[in-house]
Amino acid sequence: MDDKKRYDLVVVGGGPAGIGAAFTAAKLGLKVAIVERHNMLGGNWTNGYVLSILGAYTYSGKTKIVGGIVDAIVDRLESIGGTAGQKGNFIPFRPDEMKLALSLMANELHIDLYYSSLVTAVGMSDKRIRYVEATSKNGITRIYGKVFVDSSGDADVVYLSKLAIQSGYGRNHIHQEATLPFRIGGVNEASVIRHSKEHPDEIAVTLDKNNNLSRIRVLPKLVKLAEAEHKLYLHGTNAEFLFNTSKRGEFVCNATHVKIKDFTDGHEIALDLEDARKQVASSVQFLSKAVQGFEGSYLMDSASYIGLRETRRGVGEYILTKHDVLNNARFEDAIVRCGHPIEIHDPKKGVYYMHSNGGDDSWYEIPYRSIVAKGVGNLFIIGRCLSADFYGQASARVTGTALGMGQAAAFAAKQMIKNKTDARKVEVKKLQEDLRRFGAIL
Ligand SMILES: Cc1cc2nc3c(=O)[nH]c(=O)nc-3n(C[C@H](O)[C@H](O)[C@H](O)COP(=O)(O)OP(=O)(O)OC[C@H]3O[C@@H](n4cnc5c(N)ncnc54)[C@H](O)[C@@H]3O)c2cc1C
Repeated sequence: MDDKKRYDLVVVGGGPAGIGAAFTAAKLGLKVAIVERHNMLGGNWTNGYVLSILGAYTYSGKTKIVGGIVDAIVDRLESIGGTAGQKGNFIPFRPDEMKLALSLMANELHIDLYYSSLVTAVGMSDKRIRYVEATSKNGITRIYGKVFVDSSGDADVVYLSKLAIQSGYGRNHIHQEATLPFRIGGVNEASVIRHSKEHPDEIAVTLDKNNNLSRIRVLPKLVKLAEAEHKLYLHGTNAEFLFNTSKRGEFVCNATHVKIKDFTDGHEIALDLEDARKQVASSVQFLSKAVQGFEGSYLMDSASYIGLRETRRGVGEYILTKHDVLNNARFEDAIVRCGHPIEIHDPKKGVYYMHSNGGDDSWYEIPYRSIVAKGVGNLFIIGRCLSADFYGQASARVTGTALGMGQAAAFAAKQMIKNKTDARKVEVKKLQEDLRRFGAIL
């Protein structure tokens, strides 16, 4: 077997969670591989046009609650003009600059990237994962590791290891709706602000400290009107959001929604994408006709895949719950804070939020046990597929939090390799001290 395919840490999925784990582990001196089915790092950030980092701040935007690797990524993005920094509770950015920043950082950290490589099998013995098999145009490559991270979003490593999984909610495992985000350029921001002042029941705007537009909300009244007058084709009549990407006049829109029955069915995904593209075209047309400031706007592009909010989740030593999120739970083994509300895009009830009883400047903690996969000694489940119930995941999935889970997995992996132990034996107090020294806020 080729020696080059042996690593300390093998990260499956190069999205925000996987990047958090891989970049931190490489900074700690571990030999790291990222196996990624697409041709870029970033996951939903870059392939899915999720162009804002939520979770680094409380929902009110007043308090910073996640630090460490997130700061290194934002600094690098800023240095190449990809972001203008925090706007309220989110950090908007542009996708190509994010691709470049992540690629440069991975290169400097000597991380081995396996692109166009889909993990399709797992090799296990003595309740430890020994290797993953990545399928590419070359056929199958075995990639061996001491510790593994499932940051596939879909809990693929858990599923392929035949470990317990959770999925959707209720008896029929109903999933959150998926979205194809798209970018619009050429928006006259001053005119949009004027529209919001003249018709506050149609358009609401959020301005940043320089009085630039950071967010536009097309309110339900105008969405309903548009359906009648402009044949706007969208599912649901919720308020629709557009976020500034940090370049003036350029916005990303999350208005499209499609139901997801089986995310593994390629034919269903093709039909969903077709539907979403019709919604994109219809939205662009509606905005240009009905909202002041969009007269000269144009569709720039849309994401390269449909954005899945929730699919499969792992089962860990602890399952983060709705109760934990709503009641600002605290844990002895806390590894990251999260203040994002429960955000559901439900196929029947539409988009709704459940806010914490502690208010929008509060947070709950995610325990280490929620990222330790049950039934195997050396696997972490982080990001979108952490061990949480449907509602817990609907909050904890945001990308600032995903980065925080990733950096915790990296420090835990370092300890496991040094002490030759499994994930359950990690000294949590030391893990927390290490994380604080690295910049984590605990
Ligand atoms: C439309 C939409 C809007 C959202 N808005 C926001 C927002 O504004 N801010 C925010 O912070 N969060 C937002 N979220 C949530 C956030 O995008 C996700 O929860 C987040 O991306 C989770 O990161 P992750 O790394 O766990 O998963 P992902 O970003 O899904 O990354 C998983 C990666 O694994 C790869 N992969 C999957 N399976 C395999 C395999 N078998 N082999 C190899 N590679 C594999 C994928 O290609 C991907 O790169 C939004 C989500 C959606 C869908």
